[in-house]
Amino acid sequence: MPVAAVTLAALSLAAFSIFWAVRESNDVSVERQLKTTDRTIRAIVGELAQQQEMVAVWNDAVEQVKKPELDLDWIDANLGPWLYRTFGQDQVFILNASDEPIDATINGNHVSVDTFEAIRPGLDSLIKELRTGSRPQADAQAKLTGSPYLTSGRAVHEAHLLDLLNRPAAASAMQIVPDTDDMVQEPGSEYVLVSVRFLDDSFLKQLSDRNLIEGLRFARSNEPREGEVSVPLRSDFGDMIGYFLWRPELPGTRILYVIGPSAAVVSALMVAVMVWLVRSLHTSTSRLEATVVELRASEAHAQHLAFHDVLTGLPNRALFDDRFEQALARTRRGEKLAVLTLDLDRFKNVNDTLGHHAGDKLIRDFGGRLSGLLRATDTVARLGGDEFAILQTDISGRMDAESLCLRILEAVHQPFDLLSGQAFVGVSIGAVMVPEAGLDRVDLMRKADIALYHAKHEGRDCHRYFEMTMDETVKRRATIEEELREALASGTGLKVYYQPQVAASGHPIIGLEALIR
Ligand code: GH3
Ligand code: MG
Repeated sequence: MPVAAVTLAALSLAAFSIFWAVRESNDVSVERQLKTTDRTIRAIVGELAQQQEMVAVWNDAVEQVKKPELDLDWIDANLGPWLYRTFGQDQVFILNASDEPIDATINGNHVSVDTFEAIRPGLDSLIKELRTGSRPQADAQAKLTGSPYLTSGRAVHEAHLLDLLNRPAAASAMQIVPDTDDMVQEPGSEYVLVSVRFLDDSFLKQLSDRNLIEGLRFARSNEPREGEVSVPLRSDFGDMIGYFLWRPELPGTRILYVIGPSAAVVSALMVAVMVWLVRSLHTSTSRLEATVVELRASEAHAQHLAFHDVLTGLPNRALFDDRFEQALARTRRGEKLAVLTLDLDRFKNVNDTLGHHAGDKLIRDFGGRLSGLLRATDTVARLGGDEFAILQTDISGRMDAESLCLRILEAVHQPFDLLSGQAFVGVSIGAVMVPEAGLDRVDLMRKADIALYHAKHEGRDCHRYFEMTMDETVKRRATIEEELREALASGTGLKVYYQPQVAASGHPIIGLEALIR
């Protein structure tokens, strides 16, 4: 999860950075296009005047336009048609001193002068301003471009952005004046050159080419289509003429289209690598966890083996001793215990007659029967061979031990079902009571064994409690054996004792072999 979160965060950050850069780049480009377009539109009126100045401030022009009969060839070559051909001026008119049109050119062709009447209402105020000089020249220039653009210093003109014949237009009216001082015109007798450039059609194309804008269009209302931006066009009288709209060049988006697919592929690869890494990590971790679980299991198994008997699954001698020590510790608080050692009678016969596997099963079944007779707090252990031990804890006295011994004897008398047949066995039990017989574990086990031997030698298939006299007999036997060994070694003759006891093997305590020697 953390790896996935970090990857997702890194990819999101990268995507956010890319989109942010794309937007910034687009915004900067749109801003630049808006500014350039706006400046170009505002400059158009200045350019019109500039173009007019080339021909209107000229002695020849003054002379030509005032000829009673116009030299149309000269006009073609130098005024209206030339201004159309050279600068794309849509309509050019020459007005005499009374503002009557003496020549009209539309799209480079001479047309009837009456056509001027159609646009005269729109240009009235422009011409009036020019004639009356109601506006200072410098102010007019500053209004147009913000910087002087007319070179001769002689030009007298007025220019406007306006709505003409229901179309957006730039119009400029300039007096036709001499370019040298040796020609003098009577004030008020100046002819006027009127140029009109409509801001749709060819102008749009020119603007589009010049500013590398695609899909530029003019509309009366500001209703941009999706992705379009717009620049408003106001007349110099403050009226809203319309809007230039276009789909701006978006370099960021273009870059995104170029790098997008490869970025997507790289991101997908990154995600794939991350997924692969996480899965590998997950697999390794799972394997590691499985190994740890196996190790723990085998450790637990080893632990179990160390403290349990393989054949019966019962506690072994080590665990029995440990629990015995713990139980002995509790006797200080007054708890009473009984310790029983058990040995199957004539078990070898089972092995010999029914086979070793049958013997094994009998040992297992016997262990199971013993477990079934005990409380959870008691312990039964297999000490080895056909020998078991029981720790009966927290008892009230010998009665509890007695009851258990009787139940064990009863249980063992039930036939054992073995694969190769049924078996009947008995068991001999030696019992020792704690704390009456002492508090030392090893000594108590020894005493329980002595009691077991007594049970064996007093007929088997019975139980005997350890008595102190049993211990004295054993000690006496040890003394006799010691003296006998010394006498045999020194050859000094023998003392012979009457010994009514027999050893565990069933032989008299003084070996016959020793007596003969
Ligand atoms: P006793 O009445 O005197 O106890 O005679 P016994 O035949 O039971 O002989 P003893 O207790 O002295 O010896 C136990 C025998 O149990 C010895 C061995 O042959 C057998 N034995 C020991 N361990 C195993 C075992 O794991 N499986 C089987 N099947 N037999 C075992
Ligand atoms: Mg036995």
